[in-house]
Amino acid sequence: MDMLLRGREEDAREPGVLRPVRGSAPNSCRLCGYVLHRPVLPGGRFGYVRCEHCGLLVVHPFPETADLLSCYDDRAHSPVHPADDPSRELPVHRVRFDEELDRIEWFARRGRILDIGCAWGFFLDRCKRRGWEAQGVELSSVEARYARQRFGVEVFTGPLGDAGFPDRHFDVVTLWHVFEHIPAPLATLVEIRRILKPDGLTVIAVPTPISAPDYVFQAVPLHLFYFNETTLARALRQSGFRPIQTRKGGGTGGAALMKKAGIRDPRSLIARHVNLLWPLKRILQHVRSAVNLHKEITVYAVPESGS
Ligand SMILES: [Zn+2]
Repeated sequence: MDMLLRGREEDAREPGVLRPVRGSAPNSCRLCGYVLHRPVLPGGRFGYVRCEHCGLLVVHPFPETADLLSCYDDRAHSPVHPADDPSRELPVHRVRFDEELDRIEWFARRGRILDIGCAWGFFLDRCKRRGWEAQGVELSSVEARYARQRFGVEVFTGPLGDAGFPDRHFDVVTLWHVFEHIPAPLATLVEIRRILKPDGLTVIAVPTPISAPDYVFQAVPLHLFYFNETTLARALRQSGFRPIQTRKGGGTGGAALMKKAGIRDPRSLIARHVNLLWPLKRILQHVRSAVNLHKEITVYAVPESGS
């Protein structure tokens, strides 16, 4: 594979000077429009390319919409095995989402909240218990049904654009590790801007590439983008939002949250005894924390007044 997937256009006035090319070519960056991308570890059927202009990491080749939707088919996609009881995850999510709500309530008054990609409804459950009017959007009908039946929350099954929410309807809109799965991130932010009250808040948490070091996939990767603090802020500003705070954290981090929730993970105990590489992993963990590499970025943003 060529190191550069698309060459820069040579400037006719200044031969040899390479200029960024903006446009709507199929390969142009979905954030900044630039068409120069550098592959990150090319080799599999799918890999990632980095926009040389804004730094956005994008899956390449970009999957067809039909292939993507089939990934969210109820038989194929489930955060837990279908035979498992999703409620076993509940204590872990309770800890995380109570902390998230503490932070949200620092910025926003309790009112109407929408969780996009709400999965089994664990976040909506915590919202409802605190007196929020909680609604969800979820592609998986199995997960949406679970959320409705278990937690008594309203969940629309399908993409956000089909839900037809009224203008200026929600006080808060959240996306917990969902934004990186959406093929049209800017259009989604514009829709969120429309359904959010002018004094509302949106909270977007995304994983960083550190949390998924394997950039090469044979199957369609579900993370279509990897955002960093800069590209996420740029996407928000382009869609009429003003980021007000960014938080960097350790990620949804099963292990740390399980510890907080007082749960022992039997798999990790077994792994400690059978995995000879475990000491090496521990060293790598220390290195990561020492150099401050974060697995997750959370951005809090408000609608820009007048936009
Ligand atoms: Zn770009």
